[in-house]
Amino acid sequence: RIAPMVEIADMKGGSELYMLTFRDQSESRRMDRMRSDFIANASHELRTPLASLSGFIETMRGPAKDDPEARERFLGIMFEQAGRMTRLVDDLLSLSRLELKAHMVPTDEVDLVPLIDHISDSLRPLAADLGVTIRTNAPEGPLIVAGDRDELIQVFENLMENACKYGRSGKTIDVTLSAADGTGKGVEVSVKDYGPGIPREHVPRLTERFYRVSVEASRSKKGTGLGLAIVKHILTRHRARLVVHSTVGEGSEFIVKFGNSGR
Ligand code: ADP
Repeated sequence: RIAPMVEIADMKGGSELYMLTFRDQSESRRMDRMRSDFIANASHELRTPLASLSGFIETMRGPAKDDPEARERFLGIMFEQAGRMTRLVDDLLSLSRLELKAHMVPTDEVDLVPLIDHISDSLRPLAADLGVTIRTNAPEGPLIVAGDRDELIQVFENLMENACKYGRSGKTIDVTLSAADGTGKGVEVSVKDYGPGIPREHVPRLTERFYRVSVEASRSKKGTGLGLAIVKHILTRHRARLVVHSTVGEGSEFIVKFGNSGR
């Protein structure tokens, strides 16, 4: 049985097309090897905001004891750090839940059209903050796939949030839904941004846990580095594929292909 995964292609539809396909067995061996790295990374990621919190508590007890302005500022930073830890723990929990049900194929009927609309609405405030506009382009009528609604929300929320975070201010994020036929096969959702793009050598590693193209840039954008790892787990369970087209300086497109699409 094949657990699908990442394909890379030039945005211009060039001749090079790589497909990285992991079989379940080698995937699980790989996971074993990665497990200890993962625990070390997760601990480190949690330790950073914790150390910062402890530091600020010390300062507030000592040097900043009688400085209400400084205390207020520090409380703001501490609140942010607590938020960062919450996001991390939520993502870690998502991953561990997904691992438990990795071999169960979800079968609910999910209409992607209202689902994407719902996510677009919920992301509008973030998009407005970042100066990008989300445009959706969907066919009339429903686009049904077999899946788990909450998990599919997580997938498209992650991809669309990334497009907003890493997209270019003043530009759009284009989300396009399409289907090859009316049977639920060949359903595709493309999330396209006009940001800086991703250098080719990074693309195969994007779905690794904690992998970030640029640590500084991603930190400042409130990432945990787990979003695309979660996307990968969910899509594998849905027997769907993720195809990434990216051109440096032009933008990135993440396409989710359900069923037998795109072959
Ligand atoms: P993060 O929480 O850091 O956003 P993800 O797993 O969602 O983590 O993404 C991993 C990394 O992939 C990001 O840190 C970023 O470097 C890169 N990335 C993801 N989406 C995009 C995009 N649309 N454009 C450019 N880079 C991206």
